[in-house]
Amino acid sequence: MAPMSRDLRAVVIGAGMAGILAAIRLRETGIDDVTVYEKANRVGGTWRENTYPGIACDVPSHLYSYSFALNPDWSHTFSDGEEIQAYFERVAQEHGVDQLICFGEEVTRAAFVDGRWELETSRGRQDHADIVIAATGVLHHPRVADIPGLDSFTGATFHSARWNHEVPLDGRRVGVIGTGSSAIQITSALVDRVERFCLFQRTAQWVIQAPNPEYSEDDRRRFHDEPESVTALRDALSASFSMFANSVVDAQSPELAAIAAACEQNLEEHVKDPGLRERLRPTYQAGCKRLIMSPDFYEAIQKPNAALVTEAIERIEPEGVRTVDGTLHELDVLVLATGFQVDRFLRPIDVIGREGMSLDDVWAKRPTAYLSISIPEFPNLFMLNGPNGPVGNFSLIEVAELQVDYVLQLIDRIRSGACREISPSQEATDAHEAERVEQAQNTVWMTGCRSWYLDDRGVPAVWPWTFDHFREVMAEPDLGAYVEV
Ligand SMILES: Cc1cc2nc3c(=O)[nH]c(=O)nc-3n(C[C@H](O)[C@H](O)[C@H](O)COP(=O)(O)OP(=O)(O)OC[C@H]3O[C@@H](n4cnc5c(N)ncnc54)[C@H](O)[C@@H]3O)c2cc1C
Repeated sequence: MAPMSRDLRAVVIGAGMAGILAAIRLRETGIDDVTVYEKANRVGGTWRENTYPGIACDVPSHLYSYSFALNPDWSHTFSDGEEIQAYFERVAQEHGVDQLICFGEEVTRAAFVDGRWELETSRGRQDHADIVIAATGVLHHPRVADIPGLDSFTGATFHSARWNHEVPLDGRRVGVIGTGSSAIQITSALVDRVERFCLFQRTAQWVIQAPNPEYSEDDRRRFHDEPESVTALRDALSASFSMFANSVVDAQSPELAAIAAACEQNLEEHVKDPGLRERLRPTYQAGCKRLIMSPDFYEAIQKPNAALVTEAIERIEPEGVRTVDGTLHELDVLVLATGFQVDRFLRPIDVIGREGMSLDDVWAKRPTAYLSISIPEFPNLFMLNGPNGPVGNFSLIEVAELQVDYVLQLIDRIRSGACREISPSQEATDAHEAERVEQAQNTVWMTGCRSWYLDDRGVPAVWPWTFDHFREVMAEPDLGAYVEV
């Protein structure tokens, strides 16, 4: 007998870039019964949450756009966070996704019972779904460094992803802890506004000079009138970023050497004072930590009211930050640009698979998944931007689009009646993980720096193959790696 096709109910968790995408693509493939749960009151995820001064994408905007919603109106090469947030809101609205979202509702539990997912939300709602797509984000849970005395600070303090816009900055003394992309963008945006700016650096960063010109009216008119010019620009950007993504997985690659030379040249040419230049010079290979793209960081940190503090922080005191050399850096505002807990993914949702198996237990050591997407014994559950996927200096939108198309092919197995449940085999997942860890040894992320890419063992928790290989693997699932019921 021919298998029976089924109407499926899908739940998407999260309405950031990936959740919006999943909802759009599910409906395009004919799955109409889709609900999106979003714990906040707006779409946008990262771009809703990060509103710090200077926030912008560091992948060119024409690349950081959905392939099906190119935007001729991007204002700059690297557009700012407000514009990106407006873009996601517009796409969600134009595709009717906002109608599918239950805002202000956090999924707190998901259990696979009798062949379907039973879900609970923070509002006490009980729901069910045949398939669940988790688009809960990777850089989502702020990491607050455990610095002694932090609570004693009498000025204002907040994480960069929780910017307190009530706090005045103009003419005040502001300190920023951290030197990741957010801290660098904040430095450039704030230094001219404040009386004194202190950047507390534990690790110096390699910085690529990345000018950020505005698109002229003529450019934008052309992008409108000749959509193929946007596609051509995007293709060119994609080619150069793919080159980068392919090079980082080989620490010896000539492309990486060229990037290192460009970073070195930027430092040499733009930092005049030899002492400051040496304090800004990293001691590890460029690309080992996520590269910083900035048009003007070196200019900003050389302003007379800016200080680069490289002595380690001893503690926070009521008046400011005390460093180990005994200096008290007096501050009115202290910003923690200390990054994110990058191993959370679905958590803290209480996820229960077959036979009462808890995801917390499965991931007790560290999160793993077959190709970042699915987990043995957790059938019909698919993650976007899940564990050990490609993250780096390239567009996570392209990553998520490739993942969604892959997931839709698995969902089609269920929809077509070929199976009711699909999950990767433990063997395939273990083999993939073993190969991934082995392959990671060749990457630039293993060349001796401390970074958020590294897991508790010091293994990069990312895709260690080329981006071209990622595209190939995502093109079609190897059904031999899956268990179908
Ligand atoms: C400052 C910053 C700059 C960045 N710049 C770039 C860049 O230039 N290029 C790039 O490619 N990437 C960049 N990224 C990475 C960025 O996170 C991704 O590009 C993208 O926005 C991730 O989208 P997402 O939907 O996967 O996750 P998120 O944007 O994190 O969205 C997850 C959503 O899920 C919701 N959610 C989570 N848990 C639950 C739950 N249990 N129930 C209901 N809702 C839930 C959250 O509220 C959130 O809205 C940047 C990240 C940061 C923090």
